[in-house]
Amino acid sequence: MRRRKGDFALEPFGRFKFFRSYLAAAAFLVLLALVSQRQFIQPRRAVGLKVVKVVDGDTIVLSDGRTVRYIGIDTPEQGEPFYEAAKNFNRKLVQGKTVELEFDLERYDRYGRLLAYVFVRDKTGRRIFVNAEMVRNGFARIYTKPPNVKYADLFLRLQEEARTNNRGLWAVYKPTRSPVIGNRQTKVFHRPNCPAVRRISPQNRILFRSGEDALKRGFHPCRECQP
Ligand SMILES: [Zn+2]
Repeated sequence: MRRRKGDFALEPFGRFKFFRSYLAAAAFLVLLALVSQRQFIQPRRAVGLKVVKVVDGDTIVLSDGRTVRYIGIDTPEQGEPFYEAAKNFNRKLVQGKTVELEFDLERYDRYGRLLAYVFVRDKTGRRIFVNAEMVRNGFARIYTKPPNVKYADLFLRLQEEARTNNRGLWAVYKPTRSPVIGNRQTKVFHRPNCPAVRRISPQNRILFRSGEDALKRGFHPCRECQP
């Protein structure tokens, strides 16, 4: 049987072939949907893991061995004021508890730590948003790292609340009243003479009247120049 190009739709065999390519396309789409669901929907949350170790105010270790870094916040490092207080507060919230993790756009940081929003239940069964509680109680400063900005507005509101009430570290940390320079990309602000300022590209530079202005806009003070 000879067939010419274009007349396949007239022959039963040609019609079947046409139908078969539709089937293949449909099967491919179903497969694609399954794969994308596995990758992008299911792992957005993880349930059932326990906290076996509290490293500091914003880092924990889970029962599956993974280290989790809380997204959007930053707590004092060892040797800085409120390091122990932040760690203890975090421990009281999560130690030994089952956590629920919620993710943002980036799953891991450059140290291979899992980046997450962490939730636990208190004794009464109430759901506690751990990242937010650290900020609200003044044990963490917000540290927004784009593109992981899902709760940045909430964290900023809670930080303003903690700051106005002089909670935790806000009782001792007062930002400089002099002008500071922020980096739009990293959301960090510096004293004008900080070496890091020279590395900020002109379009990413933003001038604030004071450190407080930078804080109100959701910027994080530089660890080196401590503005
Ligand atoms: Zn600096």
